[in-house]
Amino acid sequence: MRFEFVQPSALQEAMQFLASHQDEAAILAGGTDILVQVKQKKRLPKYLVNIKGVSGLDGITYNGQGLRLGALTTIRTIETSPIIKEKYPVLAEAAATIGSVQVRNRGTLGGNLCNASPAADMAAPLIALGATARILGPQGERTVSMEEFFAGPGKTVLGPGEVLAEVAVPPPSPRSAGAYIKLGPRKAMDIAVVGVAAVVTLESQGDRCRDVRIALGSVAPIPLRAKKAETVLRGQVVSYDLAVTAGHKAMEEASPITDIRGSAEYRRDMVGVLTRRAVLRALEAART
Ligand SMILES: Cc1cc2nc3c(=O)[nH]c(=O)nc-3n(C[C@H](O)[C@H](O)[C@H](O)COP(=O)(O)OP(=O)(O)OC[C@H]3O[C@@H](n4cnc5c(N)ncnc54)[C@H](O)[C@@H]3O)c2cc1C
Repeated sequence: MRFEFVQPSALQEAMQFLASHQDEAAILAGGTDILVQVKQKKRLPKYLVNIKGVSGLDGITYNGQGLRLGALTTIRTIETSPIIKEKYPVLAEAAATIGSVQVRNRGTLGGNLCNASPAADMAAPLIALGATARILGPQGERTVSMEEFFAGPGKTVLGPGEVLAEVAVPPPSPRSAGAYIKLGPRKAMDIAVVGVAAVVTLESQGDRCRDVRIALGSVAPIPLRAKKAETVLRGQVVSYDLAVTAGHKAMEEASPITDIRGSAEYRRDMVGVLTRRAVLRALEAART
């Protein structure tokens, strides 16, 4: 296990190095995913490019345009940020489920998303919130919706030399709220067997659901938006039974596998249960 440690101080320098070393180089942010993969010889990059010292990739800003999260923002910062807890509590809720405090202190949002695990806990809530990824690369800048960011297990749409710079989340609509429910065998330090995020927006008055977005984790090759389940609920006064029907639709949309943490059948069943619960919880919060 030998690699060269590269420490660029400017983003341009990092992108140039990555572009000219393509398959040989990998970004290191917090290192909580990649160092494990290197140690297990699942990835053997010749160069690890540490971007922690690169300016302009960190920090949280919130204004009328919404929320901007620099890729280097740690999971712990998201979990504890007062503005996130106030405006986007579903993000703080999801962040709190990741690993341990130590892992959350080192692990970054960019790393969680770019590692592209179908179980990445920040992915489903960001998809449900309609977030976008701002990507910088040798060809300039582009924006990709979070639901189109993932290309397969361990794969994103990032091309050679491209870096995830920040994630933008639209301003929360009035009378909207979200919920993220993660199922794991243990209470902490475990990745999701199933994770479901739902964001519900009610009409300005009454109980009719104006919009809903549901995203599923750990039950497909990528974190997945459950559009058929959303269709069941959009424009309706959502009852318990309707939430059950949406859960059944989400089960149809999932394509889980069997692995050491759960069978495909169990995962599919849990998609139904957790979708129902997440929708009802988000609905309840949107009413208040
Ligand atoms: C004990 C333990 C428990 C964990 N529990 C959970 C859990 O419950 N839920 C969960 O979702 N994850 C969990 N993880 C995984 C990990 O901690 C998170 O995914 C973390 O957010 C990764 O961030 P990082 O900065 O450490 O990524 P790194 O390891 O530095 O990078 C991960 C990948 O992303 C790439 N990358 C990083 N930043 C960028 C960028 N800005 N642009 C382009 N590519 C980039 C790297 O090249 C690498 O391929 C756990 C890990 C450990 C070790």
